[in-house]
Amino acid sequence: MKILITGGAGFIGSAVVRRAIVDGHAVVNLDALTYAACLDNVASVADHPDYAFEQADIRDRAALDRIFATHRPDAVMHLAAESHVDRSIDGPGDFIETNITGTFNLLEAARKYWTEAGRPEAFRFHHISTDEVFGSLGATGQFTETTSYDPRSPYSASKAASDHLVRAWAETYGLPVVLTNCSNNYGPFHFPEKLIPVVILNALHGRSIPIYGDGSNVRDWLYVEDHADALLLVLQKGALNRSYNIGGENERSNLELVQTICSILDRLAPKDGSYADLITFVTDRPGHDARYAIDPTRIRDELGWRPSVTVEEGLERTVRWYLDNRGWWQALLERDGVGQRLGQG
Ligand code: NAD
Repeated sequence: MKILITGGAGFIGSAVVRRAIVDGHAVVNLDALTYAACLDNVASVADHPDYAFEQADIRDRAALDRIFATHRPDAVMHLAAESHVDRSIDGPGDFIETNITGTFNLLEAARKYWTEAGRPEAFRFHHISTDEVFGSLGATGQFTETTSYDPRSPYSASKAASDHLVRAWAETYGLPVVLTNCSNNYGPFHFPEKLIPVVILNALHGRSIPIYGDGSNVRDWLYVEDHADALLLVLQKGALNRSYNIGGENERSNLELVQTICSILDRLAPKDGSYADLITFVTDRPGHDARYAIDPTRIRDELGWRPSVTVEEGLERTVRWYLDNRGWWQALLERDGVGQRLGQG
């Protein structure tokens, strides 16, 4: 297939780009190159004859029409988004414009292209979303594909709106879509403002490791390369107009997660004392969701997919990657807002 991947210079999008090329697909990577992007993430495939890059903003409808007409993709995988909850608290406007208006533009450009091509049945618009649209769980229960939407941050509300638009375009115009809602990703090339890289990099710099609130918030951690595999499987084998939840089957509290990373660092980069001594509890994020958990039954039973690594294996690979790729993250630490406490409301 020729796949138009939006947000392919970001964390998850770049994993999908790399995996799609290895799997033999052609890729058009469409990315505006915001603060969160890094073209080094796709350096391993940049010279491949089946890879093309288009710097474009999904808010720019004319650019989208040109890119569809030029490249004539068989499918779209839509990952471009503003993705950091803390930034959405400080500046929700960019989240509304990119995640909602941008998705609307992309749907309209895809619909025009698909209609003019004679509405091919095999065309797919794959929308990549988050489990955060479902809100916050108590101590028990899991999100299924039929859980009611209950977003609670500007980020998750904007993603929920984009999910609704995608379903509406399928129902109203017949656009062939699939959707996925995944849990928290981690792994190589994770931008250094998100929890896991913050922990690793603060530890390596001997700085305090901040944990919001009491560290009891629970997330289900999904290794990014497992996620990329799942996304390409859903694109090719997922049922039309169906959504799939994708989780890592690895629920951990933030405190447990950080302690695990510290013990891996104690082994791989030993120093006097434990890195865990750097853990510091800081003021919680406003509206911090208590727990997310994914019921993975549908993707497992219908498509035969399960995550391949435990969180301990994935974290070890991730820590090794950050130790071996200092040049990659050192350059990103200079970017606007990175390393600062954001989103205190
Ligand atoms: P990211 O922030 O690392 O990357 C986003 C990419 O989108 C960047 O390369 C950026 O330049 C690009 N982009 C942003 N605005 C754009 C615009 N207006 N036009 C074109 N490109 C633009 O994000 P990520 O963590 O890779 O997340 C990818 C997708 O997966 C997002 O839709 C996100 O909501 C979703 N998701 C992420 C997670 C996670 O744990 N990271 C979990 C669930 C869902």
